[in-house]
Amino acid sequence: MHQTSYSHSLKSLKLKATPKRLAVLELLGQEMTYVSPEEIWQKLKGEFGTIGLPTVYRILEELAEGGVITKVLHSNRQLYYHFCPNRDHHHHFICVACRRVEDVEICGLESMEREVEEKIGGKVLSHVVQVNGLCRECAAGGEGGMP
Ligand SMILES: [Zn+2]
Ligand SMILES: [Zn+2]
Ligand SMILES: [Zn+2]
Repeated sequence: MHQTSYSHSLKSLKLKATPKRLAVLELLGQEMTYVSPEEIWQKLKGEFGTIGLPTVYRILEELAEGGVITKVLHSNRQLYYHFCPNRDHHHHFICVACRRVEDVEICGLESMEREVEEKIGGKVLSHVVQVNGLCRECAAGGEGGMP
C-alpha cells in the first residue's frame, strides 16, 4: 500500500497524517503477522530517535479506535495489533505460534444477533470475533513450533 492510501485512511478518521502515524501504519502494513507495541517502537526508534513507547501505544490506540487497525488479544495477555486492508465485514484467524493472521470471510452471526436482540429487547450494533489456533504449518509441527 502506498503512503497516499495510508494518509487517506487517516483522513477518514479525522486524524492528521503525521509522520509518526504514517510510519506506524506503514510498518504494520508490511507485516503479515500481528505485532506488539514494543516491536513497533524498536523499529521506529531508528527513524524517530526521540519517540517514546507511550507515544507508540497512543498512536496504536487511536488507529484501533478508528477501525484502521485491529487489536489482537493473546492468551499471553500481551496486546498486539494488525493492519488489514480488507474493509468488508470479516473476522481474523490468528496463529498463536507463528503470529500469522488470516482473513475469515465466514461470519454466520446474523441469526445470533437477531436472537440476542429478541432476548435483550435492544439493538445489536456490532460484534467482535477472533479465532485463535494453529495455522496449517504450525499444526503440522513445522519448523519452530511453539515460541
Ligand atoms: Zn502458524
Ligand atoms: Zn482481515
Ligand atoms: Zn461477523
